[in-house]
Amino acid sequence: MSAKSVSVLPSPKTDTPPQPNISIPPLLGASVEELTAWVQQQGQPAYRGKQLHDWIYQKGVRSLSDISVFSKQWRAEVAEIPIGRSKIHHRSVAPDGTVKYLLQLADGQIVESVGIPTEKRLTVCVSSQVGCPMACDFCATGKGGYKRNLARHEIVDQVLTVQEDFQQRVSHVVFMGMGEPLLNTDHLIGAIQSLNKDVGIGQRNLTVSTVGIRDRIRQLAQHQLQVTLAVSLHAPNQTLREQLIPSARPYPIEDLLAECREYVEITGRRVSFEYILLAEVNDLPEHALELAKRLRGFQSHVNLIPYNPITEADYKRPNQNRIQAFVKVLQQQKIAVSVRYSRGLEADAACGQLRASKK
Ligand code: SAH
Repeated sequence: MSAKSVSVLPSPKTDTPPQPNISIPPLLGASVEELTAWVQQQGQPAYRGKQLHDWIYQKGVRSLSDISVFSKQWRAEVAEIPIGRSKIHHRSVAPDGTVKYLLQLADGQIVESVGIPTEKRLTVCVSSQVGCPMACDFCATGKGGYKRNLARHEIVDQVLTVQEDFQQRVSHVVFMGMGEPLLNTDHLIGAIQSLNKDVGIGQRNLTVSTVGIRDRIRQLAQHQLQVTLAVSLHAPNQTLREQLIPSARPYPIEDLLAECREYVEITGRRVSFEYILLAEVNDLPEHALELAKRLRGFQSHVNLIPYNPITEADYKRPNQNRIQAFVKVLQQQKIAVSVRYSRGLEADAACGQLRASKK
């Protein structure tokens, strides 16, 4: 019997150039329907699809030859077909319990994921690309350049790996690791669907963070997902935003916010805005006031992220007084705001510090 791949259902339309249908194998990321179609194509009865699904997602099997409910003969035939799991290349634990993983992919590329435990949650911060082409001035990932998009199975794998390592179910996933998820929309949406239906994580517990790519927020909205959208705004006006985020040049902040409004209208979900705080650069009270004016009447939430230092840039994190002064202005202007102190700073696992190197 041949181990031919079978095309899966076409993904919903986006305006990205037509891409070949994702094919399986690798099997990870495939739905029970796709796996059933695949086992049948291999000459096996349909119920083997459900068994395969359980072994991949519940038992975390790494090789088809280990699936003991399959016949010995078939196991031998399909033993070399990849499920699509990565290897843990390196693992480091920060004092706060955050664990940073360097995962080695089938082609040898290294990608980072972070497991963030809190009392009731286990959150995984996943990467969507190897490296990142956006080159934000304060971010270590961007400084390291861009290699490629991650495939659907490579995104889902990160969540299963953290789940196994912690021996605890993952409750939340944030697409805030390496890469710009909206430059990889087809695989992003495939991964979201698999994390939701196959791994069993509620869509509202999935957050996609983007710097904003023209038309892609609108496209994401059209998929009618219930995921949370986080937009990395980082500045209250276009001039300052362009200084920090060179990729923002052809995409004025007004256009970005107009698309965000459409997202709210189409999905009924509020948008959260991330705002990195860089001392003396974008953390003055007048910046807070300008930001509040821009977001007035918008169903949104502002997440302030005090800058996490990276060696490649010489920004400074503002002190507590400055952070609190910024918060106060937003609160006075009735803007919902919280401060996110990144976890895992000591392991270089915090926002913006992911550069696929050990520490
Ligand atoms: N490309 C996506 C996801 C990237 S990282 C995006 O831009 O949203 C997730 C968040 O960490 C983004 O808001 C990003 O701007 C922020 N970040 C990057 N470098 C940082 C740093 N050095 N300190 C704090 N936050 C940083």
